[in-house]
Amino acid sequence: MGRTFLNNEGLRKLVRIREKVLDFFYPKFCLVCDKEGVYLCPECFSKIKTFPAPFCPYCQSRSFDGKVCKNCPPAGEAGRKSIYGFITATSYKEKDVRKLIDTFKYSFIKELANPLAFLIFKFLKENPEIEFFKNPLDFVILPIPLHSRRLRWRGFNQAEEIGKELVPLLKIPMKTNILFRRRYTEPQVELGIKERKENVKEAFKVSSLEKIKNKKIILLDDVATTLSTLEEAAKVLKKSGVKRVWALTVAKG
Ligand SMILES: [Zn+2]
Ligand SMILES: [Zn+2]
Repeated sequence: MGRTFLNNEGLRKLVRIREKVLDFFYPKFCLVCDKEGVYLCPECFSKIKTFPAPFCPYCQSRSFDGKVCKNCPPAGEAGRKSIYGFITATSYKEKDVRKLIDTFKYSFIKELANPLAFLIFKFLKENPEIEFFKNPLDFVILPIPLHSRRLRWRGFNQAEEIGKELVPLLKIPMKTNILFRRRYTEPQVELGIKERKENVKEAFKVSSLEKIKNKKIILLDDVATTLSTLEEAAKVLKKSGVKRVWALTVAKG
């Protein structure tokens, strides 16, 4: 007794009370329709358009299983060899998607990781040819890491938060102690297409790769536009001996 009164159940109760108090003082509103109670209500979630099918990220041709098509990468496009397949659920150009992701990242609403993960889950369920569900334990999710400076600013790594929500849905484990940043890079959104590639060059390093020996990697991020970041991370993993690297994002920029 005495000091151990705060067991797990007690702690969970406290967390629930704290959430109720916060909800009272800071009520949540649906980001799309303003309905009170949640950041994204079920009706608005169901109206968000996901892509009808996966596509090759380089030539946009349809790819029923998400693999990069046989004609890609186009000749001369060096560096586009590391990603085996690319899965993305929706378009960042959709107004509501952009609002969700921007609020998540720039207003620091961590809870939005949940609906964003569900968008991925919805897309995967609608496209059963994608191999993730077949043998989930063949895979491991690696979230794109943030530099410690950016992590301190945001307070969380957005890719990792989405990953935490995806793990129970996909039954695929996630590891955050494999892929690291070697150096600080400027935010990709502020750069042009050519600069982006240069900006992330040699930005990543890997360690403890033996822990995921023989696994297929799923690199996870929130948004991909040119795929430069994902390609750079995939390149490092491939150089270290990983056989197959998938890329997975909520949205395509
Ligand atoms: Zn709503
Ligand atoms: Zn292609």
